[in-house]
Amino acid sequence: MRSHGLNPRSSLPAAWTSAPPSDAVVLFREPEDIDNWKNGQEWKVEDGNLVVGDGSIFSKETFGDCQLHVEWSSPVEKQGRRKSQALGNSGIFLMGIYEFQVLNSYQNPTYFDGQAGAIYKQVPPAVNAMRPPGQWNSYDIFWTAPRFDDDGELLSPAYITALHNGVLIQNHFEVKGDTPYTRPPSYKAHAPRGPIKLQDHRSPVRFRNIWVRDYQSAQVKQPN
Ligand code: MG
Repeated sequence: MRSHGLNPRSSLPAAWTSAPPSDAVVLFREPEDIDNWKNGQEWKVEDGNLVVGDGSIFSKETFGDCQLHVEWSSPVEKQGRRKSQALGNSGIFLMGIYEFQVLNSYQNPTYFDGQAGAIYKQVPPAVNAMRPPGQWNSYDIFWTAPRFDDDGELLSPAYITALHNGVLIQNHFEVKGDTPYTRPPSYKAHAPRGPIKLQDHRSPVRFRNIWVRDYQSAQVKQPN
């Protein structure tokens, strides 16, 4: 496995947007939607976009199994001033715990499982589908929450499938646990629902058009 650098590039994908369907919970579309976030007052809204500010923010609404759409844009910075994890770093934490990485991975090598579209420190994206800084990227994330029994033992892990600009970059990946920088991942029992967290990693990443759909499989009765 590659230890550094960037994954093979998927042919540069088009911008990919998607209006929220009728059953979506909209977390950010309009400036006043900043009220949907704890600590939102510490971030800015500029040109209708949500810009990373002081401290991470958490959706007030919580989610378990879900479909999440997020659009984001890496800041345009002077060449060479910052690199690797310091360049356009943010993150989308499912249930407030499991980080799906946001980074400027356009021309910015970093460790393989720290790129945009990585489950941080667990798995890189299958391909690099990043658009240049200043342009918009989209993530569509399909999340299966982990299950725990009453004693806090893991019954089933989390799974993630994800598209980056419409390109499949994670396909039913079994999440190994939480996503810290300093130690291997592990699971610790938590509530069946949790917030979406957007990370402050001291980089003015912009976000727009964030919405979530709770997901529940159809209940099908097989005929006898
Ligand atoms: Mg991050």
